[in-house]
Order: sequence, then C-alpha cells, then structure tokens
Amino acid sequence: MKLIFEKSVPGRKSTILGKCDVEQVSLPESMKRSAAPALPEVSETDLSRHYTELCHNVHGVNCGFYPLGSCTMKYNPRIDEEIAALPGFTGVHPLAPPETTLGCREVLDKASEYLCEITGMDGMTFQPAAGAHGEFTGVLLIKKYHDSRGESRRNKIIVPDSAHGTNPATAAMCGYQVVNIPSAPNGCVDLEALKAVLGEDTAGLMLTNPNTVGIFDENILEITRLVHEAGGLCYYDGANLNAIMGAVRPGDMGFDCIHMNLHKTFATPHGGGGPGAGAVGCKEHLKKFLPASALMDGAGELQVRSFAGNFLVVVKALTYIMTLGREGIPEASANAVLNANYLMRKIQGTFEPAFDRICMHEFVLDLSEFKKRTGVSALDVAKSLIDYGMHPPTMYFPLIVHEALMLEPTETESRETLDWAADIFRKLYDLAETDPEYMHSAPHSAAIARPDEVRAARNPILRYTAE
Ligand SMILES: *Cc1c(COP(=O)(O)O)cnc(C)c1O
Repeated sequence: MKLIFEKSVPGRKSTILGKCDVEQVSLPESMKRSAAPALPEVSETDLSRHYTELCHNVHGVNCGFYPLGSCTMKYNPRIDEEIAALPGFTGVHPLAPPETTLGCREVLDKASEYLCEITGMDGMTFQPAAGAHGEFTGVLLIKKYHDSRGESRRNKIIVPDSAHGTNPATAAMCGYQVVNIPSAPNGCVDLEALKAVLGEDTAGLMLTNPNTVGIFDENILEITRLVHEAGGLCYYDGANLNAIMGAVRPGDMGFDCIHMNLHKTFATPHGGGGPGAGAVGCKEHLKKFLPASALMDGAGELQVRSFAGNFLVVVKALTYIMTLGREGIPEASANAVLNANYLMRKIQGTFEPAFDRICMHEFVLDLSEFKKRTGVSALDVAKSLIDYGMHPPTMYFPLIVHEALMLEPTETESRETLDWAADIFRKLYDLAETDPEYMHSAPHSAAIARPDEVRAARNPILRYTAE
C-alpha cells in the first residue's frame, strides 16, 4: 500500500480552521522556519481510507483468534477503557496537590491491596512501565536487600534454560552473573542441577511457574526452600498470571518478589508497544526498598520511572478485578486452563504436544519429527495460519523445544473458535503432505510475506524522507 506522503496532492486539505480568537503574535525572523514542513496534503476521505486500509493490514484480538503463547492476547472488556477514559482520571496532573487527588490514590491503594491478595505479597509498586522493567526493579530490590545485610558478595542469579529471554537479560543488567541450569526432561527445574549451583554467592533464582512450556512445577516448595537455605531470594516472573490467579499464590509458593504484566492478565490491550505496567509486589522484608512515588508509600531511594507509573493502566486493572470479583478471577483462570487443554487435545493426533500431560494456560507443540518427514517447518505452519485469519502462535520458544509452536488460547475464546482453530491445524497438517511448496512460501494473502525480521528490528525505516 502507498504511504500517506505518496497520496499527497499539493493544495488538498482536510481541515477548516476557525477564526483565530487569540491575539496574533509575530515571531522574530530568526525563529521562523525557512520552508514549510513537508506534510502530506490529502482530503478527509483519503485520510480516513488510508487509516482504514492500515487497520485492515493489522491483526488484533478484535479481528480474530490470537493464540500467541506467553503473551495472553485476551479480549479486554470495553468497560475498562470507559472507566480509564473518565475525565477525572485523564485530566489529573501528577503534580496536583495531593489533597485534590485522593481518588487516584484510592485507585492505587485498592489495586495494590487486591493484587497483593491475588499474589500473596505485602507491598507493591506500579512504577515499572512493562514486564522487563518490572523484572529490573524486582531484581534491584533483591540486590538492595543483600547489600543492606552486608552480603554484596552474592553476585549470581540462577535462571533455568526455559526462562523468558528477559530474565537473564535483567539479571545481567543489574550487574549479576547469570547461572543457567538445564531443565529436567519434564520441562521443570532439575533439583540436582539447582543444588549443584547454589552457594554462598547465590543472590537469587528467577522462575516462571507455570513455566514457559505451560507446566506447573510440582517441586516448587522444595525449590524455594533450597534457594532460601542457601541465603538467596526467589523472584517470580508473573508476567502471565492467567493460569493461577485465584487458585494459587506465588507468595505461598515461597517467592519473595514478583512482577505482573497488567497488560497481559489484567486487561490492557498490548502488542503494539502501547503503555503497559509491570507491577512489582514483594514480601514484608523487601518493602522498604520499593520505589517511592508522589502518590504511593515507599521510602526507598529507588526510582525507576516518573511519578506513579502508567496510572491509567492501573485504573483498567482495578476495573477488571472489580468487575470479575472474587468468583470471576479464579473462573477466568480455570477457563484459560480448560481452553488450553481442550485445544491441545483437539490438535493432538496431528501436531503433537512437546509434553503429553495436562497443561496450564498454554502448551507447546513439537514439530521436529513433522519437519523431518515433510520438510515443513514450524515457521511455515505459523506463516500459513495467517492466510486463515489466525495470528501465528509464538515460534521457536521456549528454546528447550525444537521447532516449537506455543499456543495460549486464553479464556475469552469460545468453544466454536477453538474447534475452528483445531480444524485449521489439521488442514495444514494434511497440506504439508500434499503441497509443502505452498507452505514454504506462505502467507499468500498478507501485504508482506516473509520480512527479514532481524534487519527489520535492527534497521527499521521509521521516517519518510521527502525528495
Ligand atoms: C511477556 C513476558 C515478559 C516481558 O514483558 P514485557 O512487558 O514485554 O517487557 C517477561 N516474562 C514472561 C514470562 C513474559 O511472558
């Protein structure tokens, strides 16, 4: 499709400006630009069509099924947007006198109270703007804790090889040495491997549970006990809380601190780089290190973002929690788990799960045998799904499964949608036998088929240069 600049026709307009109702000032010549800015000139119709066309080239939860594992692309209820759009929330200034923003403070306090209840934590900050930022904040809490006890020698963070890539990156950014441990054959933490690396230099362990293959680690109490015994702390990557909220609490599993992606589990649309929130919760012994902010308590010197973070995301999360309530929260998780198991069993018999057991909110397919036989890769299957109006699952993650496709249907999909999705997987399974070539060049319906993803990420062309 053409860029808006390429649709530009000199003199064409879509605005009618009213009469100027303030005093005109003339700027000194030195401050005036020498040439008019090269802005596109289009009519309102063309402008409207341009954005609608762009919109048709994008896949969102509102367009269709979006089983992007680990990302929790669930439907976000409209009511959360409506409440966050109330002028009392959007018009408030972070430097307004505190006595005029008591309502906002109540939102933060209530959200903190409910999320502490859901996670089993004692204190919370909403400053971090995303999951990785929350990890960074949480691991700094761990660092401050050890420093305050004169144990700065603890310089290693243990991370299992199934971890989200942000975990080792976070530990390294906080100045820690990352110790990778291999997973057991069932995808969980290998207790012997863990014991072998624990010691006086252990600062902590970062863990996702259920882990990235969608399995709940049955040894979790033993794992956190071992880490504590060695003097380390346990960090829970709760980016995705969709399997456990209202069912089991990271605090009760023995974790000392946690981050949650409010933009995954708690109803803020995400995926386009929009504002998120990586709320960080901690137990009593870490509370005094939490970032201070204008509206929240917390005495720590830590400051990871301005003011109270992305406040409107917290408004949406609180609205979501209050709408679902004490019954709805665990029901959402139960349905997320049910949907994942239903879809996994429906697909099984064609593409096989990497671990043939009950999963939590997501599951991983292992296409390595299938690829050996047909030559069709996980990438080819993912790309082919686009032609059916389905967003591809997460590919080639976690790294411990080869030719991995990771599906997370979420609780907001109906049985009919899951049946439809399973049918498409079956169709593609058969197509790989009869016409693998077609799948190697898929998608055939999208604006771009196979972009060079590395180059697109490293050298994005984000600016139009007028000739
Ligand atoms: C999404 C995710 C993250 C990172 O969250 P961002 O908001 O993208 O920074 C970290 N860990 C896990 C397990 C995740 O799924």
